[in-house]
Amino acid sequence: MRILLVEDEPDLSRQIVQALEHNGYSVDLAGDGEEARYLGETEPYDAVILDLGLPKIDGLEVLSGWRQAGLEVPVVILTARSAWNQKVAGFDAGADQYVTKPFRIEELLARLRAGIRRAAGHTEAVLECGELRLDTRQVSVSLNGEPVPLTPYEYKVLSYLLHHPGEVVSRTELIEHIYDRDSDRDSNTVEVFIRRLRRKLGVDLIRTQRGRGYAVVDPSAGL
Ligand code: CA
Repeated sequence: MRILLVEDEPDLSRQIVQALEHNGYSVDLAGDGEEARYLGETEPYDAVILDLGLPKIDGLEVLSGWRQAGLEVPVVILTARSAWNQKVAGFDAGADQYVTKPFRIEELLARLRAGIRRAAGHTEAVLECGELRLDTRQVSVSLNGEPVPLTPYEYKVLSYLLHHPGEVVSRTELIEHIYDRDSDRDSNTVEVFIRRLRRKLGVDLIRTQRGRGYAVVDPSAGL
């Protein structure tokens, strides 16, 4: 899952980026409203964390611009504006979640998870497929109740596929959602991650649709 963090305060953004990466997300950072607007319109994010008091363009204006353009990405506002009428303005501009500073990182992460899973049509923080469980709170995976250690990229690939069960996800789409903007993107590495995941989780879980991509399928469903 790939997140856009919009925050102009360097110390704070560093802390949030660190927490996000620790929780299995890839992160792009925008330090002003103009860059945020551009990135939001051009990159396929799974969620946005948006400060409101920003240089160049105010966060509220960025958000309403995205919504007018039809962008449906889940947005968590993170701001010092804590009055009730400011919150109302935030939701009316198209926010899904609203967190006021000062805040606990745990709350921000929980609201982010909630935004992402609602957008993907899930209700639970634990994603399941057959005997496989991926816990988005713990950033952990288990199979038949046994923990399965994954590398960060293996986790990212599996998490994206499990957020879209039964859907064929192309290699390009996977690459766009597991790497941040600054990463070297080599599409061959996706195949390597898939191969390693199959070795750890069994060959039946991730199906290859030749020429189209990959799909997570419940092995017990017999498809
Ligand atoms: Ca700010």
